[in-house]
Amino acid sequence: MFIEPKNNKGWIEVVCGSMFSGKTEELIRRVKRAKIAKLQVRIFKPKMETRYDKVKVVSHDDNYVDSFPVDSSDEILNWVDGIEVIGIDEAQFFDEGLPAICNQLANMDKRVVIAGLDMDFKGAPFGVMPQLMAMAEYVTKVHAICMQCGSVAQYSYRFSKTGGQVQLGEKDLYEPRCRACYLIGMAKQKEGKRR
Ligand code: ZN
Repeated sequence: MFIEPKNNKGWIEVVCGSMFSGKTEELIRRVKRAKIAKLQVRIFKPKMETRYDKVKVVSHDDNYVDSFPVDSSDEILNWVDGIEVIGIDEAQFFDEGLPAICNQLANMDKRVVIAGLDMDFKGAPFGVMPQLMAMAEYVTKVHAICMQCGSVAQYSYRFSKTGGQVQLGEKDLYEPRCRACYLIGMAKQKEGKRR
C-alpha cells in the first residue's frame, strides 16, 4: 500500500490500471487521507466525464470527494490557489497539455495524485498516461480480477469492435481480463464472434 512521503515539497503520483481496477477508489483514499491531515484538496476531471460519472463507482458515502470538471488541462491552474493536494481523475481523457501542467503544479510544491486508464481496449497506451507515468515520482499499478478465469487482470476487454477509443457509460460493454483471456477474446473477435 502506498504511504505518503512526509515533506512539504511537490511531487507526482500516478495510479493506473484497467477498468474496474479501483483506480478512482485509490485516488479518493489518498485524497481523503490528505484531508484528514488538514491539507486543502481538490479533484479535477475532464468535463466529458460528467455523463460517465453517473454510472461510475464514485460512491456517495463518507468516502465521497467532489470532483471539479474542467474543459482543459490549463484550466486547472485557475483553481489551485491555496490547494495543497491536487487529484486528477480519468487523466487518460485529458488533452496533451496535462503532463506539463502536472509538472508545473509539482514544481509549485503541490502534491499531484493522478488516476487513469493505462491502456485502451486495444491494449495500447492511453493518451497522456505514458508521459505522466514517466514523469511521476511514484507509480502504482492496480489490478482488476479477470471475469473469465479469476486471475489478476490488466486489460479492459471490450465486446464490441465498433466505435472509437472512447466509449463511455456502457458498463456491460467492457470486462477486465488477464492477458491470456484477453488474447482469446481478441482472436475470437477476429473470427467474427462476439466473445
Ligand atoms: Zn483470465
